[in-house]
Amino acid sequence: MALDSKVPKGSIKDKWTDYKNHINLVNPANKRHIDVIVVGTGLAGGSASATLAELGYNVKSFAYQDSPRRAHSIAAQGGINAAKNYQGDGDSTYRLFYDTVKGGDYRSREANVYRLAEVSANIIDQCVAQGVPFARDYGGLLDNRSFGGVLVSRTFYAKGQTGQQLLLGAYSAMNRQIARGKIEMFNRHEMLDVVIVDGKARGIIARNLVTGEIERHAAHAVVIASGGYGNVYFLSTNAMGSNVTAGWKVHKKGAYFANPCYTQIHPTCIPRSGDYQSKLTLMSESLRNDGRIWVPKNLEDVQAIREGKLKPTDLTEDQRDYYLERRYPAFGNLVPRDVASRAAKERCDAGYGVNATGEAVYLDFAASFERYGKEQAKIQNISNPSAAKIKELGQEIVRAKYGNLFQMYEKIVDENPYETPMMIYPAVHYTMGGVWVDYNLMTTIPGCYAIGEANFSDHGANRLGASALMQGLADGYFVLPYTIGDYLADDIRTGKITTDSPEFDAAEKEVSERIAFFINNKGTHSVDYYHKKLGKIMWDKCGMSRNADGLKTAIEEISTLRKDFWENVNVPGTASEYNEQLAKAGRVADFLELGELFAKDALVREESAGGHFREEHQTEEGEAKRVKEFQFVSAWEYKGASGKRRYFAQRRTGLREHRS
Ligand SMILES: Cc1cc2nc3c(=O)[nH]c(=O)nc-3n(C[C@H](O)[C@H](O)[C@H](O)COP(=O)(O)OP(=O)(O)OC[C@H]3O[C@@H](n4cnc5c(N)ncnc54)[C@H](O)[C@@H]3O)c2cc1C
Repeated sequence: MALDSKVPKGSIKDKWTDYKNHINLVNPANKRHIDVIVVGTGLAGGSASATLAELGYNVKSFAYQDSPRRAHSIAAQGGINAAKNYQGDGDSTYRLFYDTVKGGDYRSREANVYRLAEVSANIIDQCVAQGVPFARDYGGLLDNRSFGGVLVSRTFYAKGQTGQQLLLGAYSAMNRQIARGKIEMFNRHEMLDVVIVDGKARGIIARNLVTGEIERHAAHAVVIASGGYGNVYFLSTNAMGSNVTAGWKVHKKGAYFANPCYTQIHPTCIPRSGDYQSKLTLMSESLRNDGRIWVPKNLEDVQAIREGKLKPTDLTEDQRDYYLERRYPAFGNLVPRDVASRAAKERCDAGYGVNATGEAVYLDFAASFERYGKEQAKIQNISNPSAAKIKELGQEIVRAKYGNLFQMYEKIVDENPYETPMMIYPAVHYTMGGVWVDYNLMTTIPGCYAIGEANFSDHGANRLGASALMQGLADGYFVLPYTIGDYLADDIRTGKITTDSPEFDAAEKEVSERIAFFINNKGTHSVDYYHKKLGKIMWDKCGMSRNADGLKTAIEEISTLRKDFWENVNVPGTASEYNEQLAKAGRVADFLELGELFAKDALVREESAGGHFREEHQTEEGEAKRVKEFQFVSAWEYKGASGKRRYFAQRRTGLREHRS
């Protein structure tokens, strides 16, 4: 099948406006005859459900949690990008577009990214109107901070709880429609298949997770907003329930899946503490605005720290290696996530990791305490403040910005990060890959859309910080509501879609048989046993750095593990009760299939890009070239140097095969 991205013609900056002016619309009186299913109520699905219902469509929304408010989006901490240029520091739609494309190692679809940058400003206005309490500066204006990979401050935030506040906004908008009867909300329901009738997505099979009942739901279109699949690694910063099932089911019914191996490994997570851990915790990237990353310069100091004979605060400045500042002076600690993650791994692999597992580097706020403290002392007219007073004043500022993150760190690690540097290490965080979509956000199944983290389109090989919330809300509030109308305009005379059809019969049968299998198999190993084994293969062989031999081994190991799973998995309980293990069995079965595709994708990409790195390229010469290239690009990027077009052209020629 030839993929058609359906990117409209014309100059990149006019495409979206022209396109909106010419696509088909469904008139208000006809919208009430059209039903849309939205799977997922995170920022993407929540905003899409609310907007489609506001427009007049009849929406059925599904979530496996007990409330839309508990979608994984609630965990997002650091912020949301928008090209508002409130700081007057030179931001613009073009720069946000440019940073996103460059941050993604030139693998994203540029037309989608330009549109994303364009609508980013509307998102902030929409959310402020909903009452989202974004942080404000002293004068009452919306505040911004900076995230990795950019040279401006464009990240809007609500302390370290931005996702939660945005989700409450989307949830309020949804609730208004639930109350009006325009959204029918199905909490604790899991979509287990998509139903295709005459080549079009016309409904889903869902399981009521409380009663175990299998249900049929029909609609004129189906929107998948089911989030990312980082949990294929078992350990990740994702919510425990995040999974690939909805995206995988549509893939198995014919939707293409793009870039499955593009995974973001976030540099600032709390390091793993042992083998019995089931979850990793993110420390927001925003902390890199004020924290400096380092490891000791000397291996003897590393050893002494590990043995508890030396404290990090005992080391003087010249005994520390601020390796990001050393290697990437233009961006320092705010290099993009992939660069920061690989650099931390490189230092730890070289033996400089500062905790017992050897997998941790420091994130140190001492310099910020001093910098902010001195500023505050001046503002408060305190003459000759003591070092202790300066630190106290500085810590107040840092507490106001990141207090909840510091508290979370202390609760988990049992160390006070105001007194000793935090320890961090990279962890799986986000999946750039996902269901392939065209410019309309439609998959290769007509009438089936994918939005938010579930699709692949906007972040290429690496997502910039604070851009996932932006994409989810752009898709849901401002893009899908237009593009879906273009498709639904043909359906105004179709009438209700019936669930009484052979296609629904077949899909329901398949789902029921699989559930019966899990309950009746009575094998010897738990679902988690398999998930953990899969995660280890993925992390060891398909993690941050990969090589051909390792990937080939991973493919074999995953295939053997999957066979074992289908023979020996044990699911306790029954199918007609709330049974978490049963739900998880289905999700892990899908991860076991995705994992293999993931490794195959990584194998055929003989390239290092974004979050994934081929060890074959890791020569000293290669690394030096990469650093030089990064600095070269950084140096001209905002200066419009003449080499820029040539450089872009070269990258493009080499990368054309990855574009759709
Ligand atoms: C700890 C953490 C912090 C982050 N911080 C930031 C940040 O500061 N800024 C930023 O831009 N991004 C951040 N991200 C990324 C961002 O949070 C996510 O990419 C984004 O929230 C995904 O939104 P979504 O709506 O696509 O999916 P989700 O929020 O994951 O929602 C998925 C929805 O789909 C439903 N669902 C899934 N499968 C099914 C099924 N089969 N049947 C029925 N329902 C289903 C779920 O119930 C849920 O409602 C962070 C991520 C993490 C892990």
